[in-house]
Amino acid sequence: MADPDIVDQVLKAIRQVVGPAPVALHEPRFAGNEWAYLKECLDSTFVSSVGKFVDRFEADLAAYTGAKHVVAVVNGTAALHIALKLAGVGAGDEVLIPALTFVATANAVAYCGATCHFVDSEERTLGVNPQKLREHLRATTEQRNGLCVNRATGRVIRGLVPMHTFGHPVDLDALLALARDYNLVLVEDAAESLGSAYHGRHTGTFGLMGTLSFNGNKTITTGGGGAILTDDPELARTAKHLTTTAKLSHRWAFAHDQIGYNYRMPNLNAALGCAQLEALPGFLESKRRLFERYQAAFSHIQGASIVREPDGCHSNYWLHALRLAPERADQQEAILAATNEAGLMTRPVWNLMNTLSPYRSCPAMALDSAESLAARLINLPSSAHLAERAA
Ligand SMILES: *Cc1c(COP(=O)(O)O)cnc(C)c1O
Repeated sequence: MADPDIVDQVLKAIRQVVGPAPVALHEPRFAGNEWAYLKECLDSTFVSSVGKFVDRFEADLAAYTGAKHVVAVVNGTAALHIALKLAGVGAGDEVLIPALTFVATANAVAYCGATCHFVDSEERTLGVNPQKLREHLRATTEQRNGLCVNRATGRVIRGLVPMHTFGHPVDLDALLALARDYNLVLVEDAAESLGSAYHGRHTGTFGLMGTLSFNGNKTITTGGGGAILTDDPELARTAKHLTTTAKLSHRWAFAHDQIGYNYRMPNLNAALGCAQLEALPGFLESKRRLFERYQAAFSHIQGASIVREPDGCHSNYWLHALRLAPERADQQEAILAATNEAGLMTRPVWNLMNTLSPYRSCPAMALDSAESLAARLINLPSSAHLAERAA
């Protein structure tokens, strides 16, 4: 039953922070050099797979994240696909991913011919729960010739892909230790966490590789786009080769030494990315201010709180999230309905991956926390420019 009290309080608190409706969930902002760089791109006629902005965007991202090498690609899903392939994920393998994620994480595993194995999340980070996963692996796997084998399916569990939900870093120290102990390769899905740091180091730079997304709704956008981060020069070289049709360098011949992918980021998109990256520090400041305003506005509401960055972490606050107390989970639908009817765009978190028809029969551990979180989280309007509205 809808409780008009809490629904009203939430509606009022959101209005107080974001101002008059309509308000979108997340809008991009182009207030810097976007027009200038795009014009330069058009004037040069290098709008597609050749041009200086791709190299510059990769170099700028490397400087910003601290990754030694960056390969820009068409989108975050493609970045994950290639990262997993280069991590050795292939047909017949299993890959551990959170059930609470966007479908791209699961799809990238499937593109490699591998099977998803769903993992529970923790309340504190909204990401993979290292203690529960360790217990699950201890109870259900064995080591054979240095490989982690799922005793129930007989398949090799090749890797682990933690995801930094809404920009909040997962417990990387514990997950890296787990990956080491169980011989799993760790690839970070950092699609949501550009600008987020774990103990002072940028997310996406802890695993063998990490991936970013610059989709239209992310913290910065290239229209569509993604990137692979790695410190390994050989992996970076192979990633570049595979994402550019595996073409061998030659003055005129079209020779390809593998089945490559046309995953390269076009110069036009990279031009937009260079300008957006310049604006990123400002976006991050605004998003943090918006978080503080939400936190203040919700501080007196019983049974509802704003998700904050885990201790020791610096979050980009990509999407702000309201978390209902377990006893108020029954108000999620009513709050979603009332806010959207009022023109304040809010959204539930994604349907859990294990509930989607293509992934229903995949192996999974007990998903109690993910199920509970999915029933209690509500994303709030999160555009950086909302922080500039008069409170
Ligand atoms: C956005 C996102 C991606 C990548 O999405 P693209 O639209 O392909 O760039 C991957 N994983 C997660 C968790 C995401 O939120």
